[in-house]
Amino acid sequence: MLNDVNEQDITKLVEGLNFAEKVDRSLALIEQAWKEHGEKLVVANSLGKDSVAVWHLAKRVSPAIRGFIVTTRYKPAETVEFMNEQVAQYPELKVYKNDIAIPDGLYRTNPDQCCELLKVEPTRQAIEEMDVECWVTGLRCTEGRTRTDFREVEQRDEGLIKLNPILIWHEREVWQYLAVYQVAVNPLYAKGYRSLGCWPCTKIALGADERAGRWIGTSKCGGECGIHTRPLKTKTAGAV
Ligand code: SF4
Repeated sequence: MLNDVNEQDITKLVEGLNFAEKVDRSLALIEQAWKEHGEKLVVANSLGKDSVAVWHLAKRVSPAIRGFIVTTRYKPAETVEFMNEQVAQYPELKVYKNDIAIPDGLYRTNPDQCCELLKVEPTRQAIEEMDVECWVTGLRCTEGRTRTDFREVEQRDEGLIKLNPILIWHEREVWQYLAVYQVAVNPLYAKGYRSLGCWPCTKIALGADERAGRWIGTSKCGGECGIHTRPLKTKTAGAV
């Protein structure tokens, strides 16, 4: 059963497994979840390096696995172009976007609300419309201060499992995987970005924290958009 994996010490796995063992573990996690949830297992693809690695792993488990992309009006042109290429290659990737009218500069005045409207809401919509029981993400526990206490299998909403199959991978191991399998990545990495998001809230940053370039100058700096922390099932979505 999937939940048994949470008995293991994540920190020990991060440092104790080598690259090949981590890849095998990730594939086994996706395979087990695919057996348990079938077509109700769906990959959330943010078009970042971690997501494209997970998408590649999922496709190795079964070409039939579906995915969704949440995009916003503020995505950089490079990300939009990369998204269009990915969707052309994988028509089973469905795109969700919230075009609701919002105040100008909401990302500056209230980034939490901006993310809630433009990222969390379309994620809820994807989960509802695609009838998702298990969503698969590219979240990693070594990415930054907000990501240290996640588990490989989580259940924050009733009836919705979250699988984080590369939770224990280092940043280097993600790049190692993408290089070994020659997986195409967002061209913004070539410009020096390490973590990708909307253009007003993403800067090129140096230093140990991989997500330090996100929401610089706001209380959300290095933080989260909310899809990993907010309720996602529509019936519980109003609750904080
Ligand atoms: S990342 Fe910035 S622009 Fe994008 S939804 Fe969040 S606050 Fe808005």
